[in-house]
Amino acid sequence: MPRPEYLICLECETEVEDFTWREGEVRRAACEVCGNSDPDAFALPEQFDQDSEDEEEDEEGEEELVEDYDELEDQDEE
Ligand SMILES: [Zn+2]
Repeated sequence: MPRPEYLICLECETEVEDFTWREGEVRRAACEVCGNSDPDAFALPEQFDQDSEDEEEDEEGEEELVEDYDELEDQDEE
């Protein structure tokens, strides 16, 4: 997973750009607004958007992704 542009502080929902990203996960993060510095208390923008977006849009996007994966897996097995 590539390094995101920013994280979302789950304590105050602020975008935080001051964080350390390594091997696909947050190693260190610090929110200037509320002082939160627990890496587990930050979310990736993608995860946060999925939670707050309209359900209809989410379902459409996820279904397309799943179909693509199925096709790829079939080709690999044959
Ligand atoms: Zn915060």
